[in-house]
Amino acid sequence: MSKAIRILLVEDSPIDAELALEELRFAGLETVVRRVDTREDFEQALNECRPDVILSDYSLPGFNGMSALRIAHERCPDIPFIFVSGVIGEEIAIESLKYGAIDYVLKHRLQLLPPAVKRALVAAEERRERQRAQEALGRSEERLRLAVKAARMGTWELDLSTGRIEASPICQENFGVPADTEFDFGMLRGSLHPDDRAVVGHQFERAAEQGGSLESEFRVIWQDGSVHWLVVHGLAVRDARGAVARIVGVTLDITARKQVEENLAKQAQELAALNADLRQFAFAASHDLQEPLRMVTVYTQLIVERYKPTADEETAMFLSFIETGTARMGALLRDLQAYLHLQTRDRHFKRVDMNELLHRVLQVLDIASREAGAVITTEPLPVVLGDESQLEQVLQNLIANALKYRDARPPMIHVGVSREGTYWRFFVRDNGIGFETEFAEQIFGLFKRLNHQKDYPGTGLGLAICRRIIEHHGGQIWAKSEKGVGSEFSFSLPVEAGWQKEGTDGGMIGAANESISVS
Ligand code: ADP
Repeated sequence: MSKAIRILLVEDSPIDAELALEELRFAGLETVVRRVDTREDFEQALNECRPDVILSDYSLPGFNGMSALRIAHERCPDIPFIFVSGVIGEEIAIESLKYGAIDYVLKHRLQLLPPAVKRALVAAEERRERQRAQEALGRSEERLRLAVKAARMGTWELDLSTGRIEASPICQENFGVPADTEFDFGMLRGSLHPDDRAVVGHQFERAAEQGGSLESEFRVIWQDGSVHWLVVHGLAVRDARGAVARIVGVTLDITARKQVEENLAKQAQELAALNADLRQFAFAASHDLQEPLRMVTVYTQLIVERYKPTADEETAMFLSFIETGTARMGALLRDLQAYLHLQTRDRHFKRVDMNELLHRVLQVLDIASREAGAVITTEPLPVVLGDESQLEQVLQNLIANALKYRDARPPMIHVGVSREGTYWRFFVRDNGIGFETEFAEQIFGLFKRLNHQKDYPGTGLGLAICRRIIEHHGGQIWAKSEKGVGSEFSFSLPVEAGWQKEGTDGGMIGAANESISVS
């Protein structure tokens, strides 16, 4: 033992005390000793220091060992008490053990003292350890009890051999049964909503037969007729022979949560219906407006052809306003219909080589890019899963915008890609007019535009269409920009493991850094 043992020695004879201590030293035990031989000194010693062990003579002139034992037993029952006495009859020995002495050693056999002290110390340590474990268990039970109470959780235990259910008051309340009423499985079954009875019965039967855990959400009808939702979690417990004997678990009243869920579901349904109505309205309106617009366009054309050559300046100006207005309305209706007709319900995705797609887009935009004096650079792009014509539309809209929203400088446009986890990030970067960051989200909204029609014509639907397409493909689209410097539009698409071309870096194919320069 590394630490000195603190001994309180009740002994009137210094010689006997020395003999006892000599024996302990001889056995290799390091000790710190306080010797007393009166009641007052003994009590004071107990107050002042906490000994590891008390060694006591039986008969002392002004005090006796049995009194010391009683005092120690009362004040500090966990300190081991050993009698070290010259004479001790069997009766006294038994009595002393009854009062809590844990051992006795006769003075003429002092060689037995060290093992007795060691045993006493080990036993005391074990007792303390047990006590600590018990206290920890008590604390954890208390914590569990409070947590269960705070969560308003009921606890229950179903004995499968008797069908008896032992339920906590909260559990009974959950089933609408007063806490002071006897509760059994029959009552539980009786309180179940008729529509849920079969399912719950089946779940309990399965847990009883196969063991394992049980989780069930169901309705109960209380005695006052009100309906409540409960969730039950249970665990089958087996007996020593391995048969399922009990199911133990908790209940929770989730009526409020269910009501919120039901309300949300109802609201979602209403919103979906409203959305469908709005879509229907937008479809009908955009479709029905086409016909009168065609009429206005045709007759405007006729009027312009017939009267413009001879019209005065003001009339000619009015006529050209009408012409631009009808053209713009036509463009708006066309783009709106394109947006509304976007097929985003079924996913018939195919393997799409983004290089081929980009090549086609660049061909379509060839004239516009020549006119703008643009330099468009590209890099090898991967193969993705998607709707080819929709993805083509996205790339076309983004590159067309990069060409359109340019300033006096010739456009420098780069189309690239980077792998980001399980996604590809495609991007179109330009050196155009840019915009302030605060508009980066807004521009993806319907009809949202940042520039004047006369400077940069458009309908404000291109990016909305892109967003709809990319989200339909399970990706996202976003923009970064600095006014007067340029913009970068990115969209992500999932990397489809099965569609990576062998021998290439994650499905990347195509020539490195192709550059198309047009003067
Ligand atoms: P449209 O081009 O028909 O106006 P979009 O939906 O394609 O519609 O774009 C919405 C708005 O976003 C544009 O009006 C413009 O203000 C801004 N925008 C789009 N692309 C760019 C770009 N590359 N550089 C600067 N602004 C852009």
